[in-house]
This record gives sequence, C-alpha cells and structure tokens, in this order.
Amino acid sequence: MTPPAPAAARDRLRIAIQKSGRLSEPARALLSSCGLGWRESRDRLFCYGESAPVDLLLVRDDDIPGLIADGVCDLGIVGRNVLLEQAGEREAAGRPPASRELRALGFGGCRLALAVPEDWEWRGPEQLQGKRIATSYPALLQRWLAETGVQAQIVVLAGSVEIAPRLGQADLVCDLVSSGATLAANHLKPVQTVLESEAVLAGPVAPFTGPRAELAEMLLRRLDGMLKIRHSRLLMFQAARERVPVLLQLLPDAEPPTVWQVDGGDCLALQALCHGDVSWQRLEELKRAGARGLMVLPVERLLA
Ligand code: ATP
Ligand code: ZN
Repeated sequence: MTPPAPAAARDRLRIAIQKSGRLSEPARALLSSCGLGWRESRDRLFCYGESAPVDLLLVRDDDIPGLIADGVCDLGIVGRNVLLEQAGEREAAGRPPASRELRALGFGGCRLALAVPEDWEWRGPEQLQGKRIATSYPALLQRWLAETGVQAQIVVLAGSVEIAPRLGQADLVCDLVSSGATLAANHLKPVQTVLESEAVLAGPVAPFTGPRAELAEMLLRRLDGMLKIRHSRLLMFQAARERVPVLLQLLPDAEPPTVWQVDGGDCLALQALCHGDVSWQRLEELKRAGARGLMVLPVERLLA
C-alpha cells in the first residue's frame, strides 16, 4: 500500500468507499462509469487510480465521515443514515459536523423506521411514551423523539437490533428497513419512518483548494451527468411543423429539443433528451399526434 500522504501534501483525490457490504459494488460501478479505473494493492485496502489521479480507500462505512473530517479522504460514499447519525453525535458533543452530503446517488435506498411487535395495534407516536427502543442510531432516534415530544428510553446496540424485543432488552426497535423481510422474520412490523436514506457522496464542510479542487469538480461534473442520464433516453422523430407544439406538450419531462428543418422547412426533425420512461404507450400517443420515425436511444454519457 502506498503510504498515505498528509492531506495538505496530496495532489491526488482520495475517495473512501465501503470495503465489503451493500454499498461496495454499486459505489465502484458508479465511479467506474465516471471514467475512473484502479490498480488494486495486495491488501485490497487501497486502489491506485490509473486513468485519473483519483484513488480509492476501502474501509468500513462507519469510518467514512471521520476519514473525511480528518482529511485522510476527500470524498466518500456512505449511507445518509451513517452520515447524519455521526453528525448528530458530534452535535451532541458540541463538535462541528464532520462532513456533508454533496449528492444523493440513487442506490442503497432504505429507511430508518420504528418497528413494533406484530401483535401491537399501532395508534401513533404517543404510544411510545416510557417504552424502551433498541437502535444503532441513537442520535437520529433522539432527534425524532425530541421533535415528536415523546419520552422513551434508548437502548443502544451495535448490531442484531431486531432480536432485542425477543430477548427482553427492549419493547421495540428503530432500525434500517428495505424490504421488511428481516423484521418480519423477527415478528416485527415497521410503523413509523424516522429517516429516508440512500447512498450519498459525502465531502468536507469547507470547499476544496488546489489541484484536488479541480479533480473534485471534474468528478462532480461527470457524476451529475451519470445521475442525470440514469433514467434518460434520447428521443428522435420527425413531424410536420404545425404538429410540433402539440407533440412537445406530450413530452413534459424532456429538455428543450434540438430541431432541424427537412423537406424545405415544412417537416422538422427533432431530438430531445427525456428524463422519464419512454414507454411504447407514449410512443403510440406521439405517433397518433403526428410524430413519424420515432426512435429511442440510450444515453451513455452527458456533460452539461
Ligand atoms: P461495514 O462492515 O462497512 O460496517 P455494515 O454492516 O455497517 O458494513 P451494510 O449492511 O453493508 O453495512 O449496509 C450499508 C448501508 O446500506 C447502510 O448504512 C444503509 O445506508 C444501506 N442499506 C440499504 N438497505 C439496507 C438494509 N435493508 N439494511 C441495512 N442497510 C441498508
Ligand atoms: Zn457499518
């Protein structure tokens, strides 16, 4: 492994991602789609950027906000739940935030939710008064309880939160849920969302300076392009000039189109980037409204 250079002396950008877990593969895939590639070290903790001076550090997700705060890494991909929990813990200790969310990345979606035993009849948050709630997210839960005006006891557990009610350690849990299958297997049901979460790109609170500022800007530009085209398609068609206003009304999620004249001006060729689903049904509607030669193309890269 290349010995880590002190933050101020580095002219390469360093991004922390989860070593192994739910966010590892999608995080790497997203960064690769931004044109980055790496050579892995033998210990598989550090990946040296070969196509750009952007290196990866593979770590536990919980370490990512602190690594950014300490300047060991410049950016990180981590769940919003981890980022905000650690920000809440620092705030409670009177310390400034370690890092902040720069972009939501659209994967790793889940929610931090209160889940109660299946046989409880849920009547609302006031039911939690005086109860014991097991969680690995005490700061986020504490904030929600304070906002909701409920007094409950928080039982902090590092893992296996969902078995706490069965073990008699708590009455209910506040845990991450995506499909709900783990909760159901433990006879719990989610009743209240405390935080909506997904993977985010986290960065320092202060702006970058020097060569790393340029690298970070380049990465953000590429990332924005990739995030934007994830659900985008290029739609091409031809139509008589007088049909165009009606056709554009059928494309509310499209960018302003590029238009060419064909056939001496009465017929126009249009090309528009659509940010929603371009289904067969929509194509048929456009055809009925006068579009011809409709073609839908995937978008591979976009640089605004
Ligand atoms: P590490 O070894 O890095 O500490 P971990 O066990 O804390 O890993 P994972 O279980 O891989 O982490 O989860 C990483 C992130 O994935 C979570 O912080 C959360 O943002 C997101 N996530 C998405 N769905 C779920 C889910 N159903 N349960 C837990 N986390 C989820
Ligand atoms: Zn973790």
